[in-house]
Amino acid sequence: MKPQIVWFRRDLRLADNPALVHATRSGPVIPVYLFAPGEDGVWAPGGASRWWLHHSLLALKHTLEERGLRLIIREGTDSLSMLRELVSETDAAGVAWNRLYDPLATARDRIIKRTLRADGMTADSFNAALLQEPWAVTKKDGGPYRAFTPFWRVLRASGIDEPPQPPPGRLNGPEHWPAGLEPDALGLLPSIPWDRGFHAHWTPGEPGATARLEHFLEHALTDYGRRRDLPAEAGTSGLSPHLHLGEISPRQIVAAVNTHRQQYRIPEQDVEDFLAELGWREFAHHLLYHQPDMPERPLDARFEHFPWSDNSEPLLRAWQQGRTGIPLVDAGMRELWSTGWMHNRVRMVVGSLLTKNLRIPWQTGEAWFWDTLVDADLASNSMGWQWIQGCGADAAPYFRIFNPVRQGERFDPDGSYVRRWVPELAKLPAKHIHTPWSAPQAVLDAAGVRLGDAYPAPIVDLASSRNDALEAYRVIRNG
Ligand code: FAD
Repeated sequence: MKPQIVWFRRDLRLADNPALVHATRSGPVIPVYLFAPGEDGVWAPGGASRWWLHHSLLALKHTLEERGLRLIIREGTDSLSMLRELVSETDAAGVAWNRLYDPLATARDRIIKRTLRADGMTADSFNAALLQEPWAVTKKDGGPYRAFTPFWRVLRASGIDEPPQPPPGRLNGPEHWPAGLEPDALGLLPSIPWDRGFHAHWTPGEPGATARLEHFLEHALTDYGRRRDLPAEAGTSGLSPHLHLGEISPRQIVAAVNTHRQQYRIPEQDVEDFLAELGWREFAHHLLYHQPDMPERPLDARFEHFPWSDNSEPLLRAWQQGRTGIPLVDAGMRELWSTGWMHNRVRMVVGSLLTKNLRIPWQTGEAWFWDTLVDADLASNSMGWQWIQGCGADAAPYFRIFNPVRQGERFDPDGSYVRRWVPELAKLPAKHIHTPWSAPQAVLDAAGVRLGDAYPAPIVDLASSRNDALEAYRVIRNG
């Protein structure tokens, strides 16, 4: 019997993998991963994503080997050519994969499907990444949604409970395996030891994703609605990088949440709040599908003419390094650098400071996140940055500028989060932890804080830069 190639992409798991299940029905399978970052253009995986991918490929390879299969890894510039080579080397009957929705991937996959079929192969694709595909929900007039609430109401009502498929029972490989590379050969790990802290926080791969979901259900689903906004607490799932590379599917998460809520008495509101976050992920894909230039261009075209500030390079560096002198912002940027992840509330605060107080284009922040986030995802990242800037779908109005001091006092009231990531300030009392610049000298001395030396004075005046940002907005609003 001829084998089927299963082309793994961002679905690095065996459970709830419809392409894999489909392929096993018709005979032996050859699991394949093709590394062709050039096909993603400027959105080739960034540094932190590459770190994750390396470890996730190792994990998938290991899981497949336990089931008697290999993972054939190849590297090149053109996935279609690599697939055709593999088909001819293995005499495969066809190729199966799970769909991606980024604009370049969609266009490429369409050509690949057409070409393989014209070659006489089978070419079958499936949805494994989303609860509903990005085109499934439309407004009454057939157009896409621009606001989250009605989008989610319709999606939620249309059913998000499709059961996940279990991993295939029996897996058979071909008689002869084609050659492949080891994950190491892809050179995905950073050349400087920037990833040192990542290992303590993450276990990439399907088993790590499953363990994280179980931990979340047990420890953080109850009270999620309140704790999800507190960056010092482990109040969210931490599933985003696992979801991005498809080590777990949203269907599996919804099914596990439903089972858990039935077994234990989880408050309905906490469950709904959590499911709505998965809804934001769906919304991001919906937006990107209908607005393929969302990563580059503002959905609100007036922002094409926003007067960004000149000479922002030193300010950008300070922001990237977590040396703005504004404690909550610095804590977030350092959390990002150390772990490859940042709490959602703090993402909003650092984004607001960059795009509004410093008036640096949102695309610059988006690019930094792209390189440093382990969960960097084209749809969610670009939606998040446009939301912050106020130029996206369902965005906060531009004039609602986050005040990082108020945000800190509200969501990190005792300063635990700042203390964890900005040790220079650890000994400051809670009263001053978010505003060291206004602490009395005696308090600073007692806490060993030397402002402008070990810890910087603020690089921007929050009040006057807020007014400047509002003035800049008036220019485009009236222009
Ligand atoms: P939980 O609170 O446990 O939520 C569960 C899941 O829901 C997450 O894993 C994620 O898949 C999804 N989710 C939650 N919030 C959002 C949201 N606002 N938008 C889209 N999906 C969401 N998320 C990414 O996955 N990749 C990104 O590149 C990304 N960039 C962002 C950039 C900015 C400027 C902002 C403000 C947000 C960004 N987010 C991004 C969304 C959000 O910050 C992360 O998804 C979340 O912090 C992940 O942590 P968690 O898994 O513990 O989330």
